[in-house]
Amino acid sequence: MSTSTNAPDAATATATGTVTDRLVEANARYAEAFTDPGMDARPVLQVAVVACMDARLDLHAALGLQLGDCHTIRNAGGVVTDDVIRSLTISQRALGTRSVILVHHTGCGLESLTEEFRMELEAEVGQRPSWAVEAFRDVDQDVRQSMQRVRTSPFLLHTDDIRGFVFDVKSGALREVDPAA
Ligand SMILES: [Zn+2]
Repeated sequence: MSTSTNAPDAATATATGTVTDRLVEANARYAEAFTDPGMDARPVLQVAVVACMDARLDLHAALGLQLGDCHTIRNAGGVVTDDVIRSLTISQRALGTRSVILVHHTGCGLESLTEEFRMELEAEVGQRPSWAVEAFRDVDQDVRQSMQRVRTSPFLLHTDDIRGFVFDVKSGALREVDPAA
């Protein structure tokens, strides 16, 4: 394994080794420059962001967020699953967040899938997954459904400040989705 220390980030780190090796090397440089910000675990802005895992969506840069500002909860599609509700419940009840922002985006991989994906998996591996694919065709409707799932959760303390957006991966702009449309 290379021990090169002069590359500035993971993308330009040594060409040898696995991608994980590159990330570990990048971390060594990160930790060298890191100073303890002295924060506790409660997000400074009391906000949780639920977003798609899409690689083109840099949440902190796109929303002007700093270290310690928010919780970020991400999965394929930014779908509000039971596990996202689990994280939001802990976020609000144990760590003091009050607002929820949902960020879906243009060109999402889930737009090209259908629930057939589950059947295909079953045919291949002999077992159908318990989870839904949560594929969608209309991104606005998908955001509205996600907002509705958060708003109607019995576990959450704060459901009055929930807003949903579509991030345009070509322009970098957020467009708000009207929950009532
Ligand atoms: Zn996506």
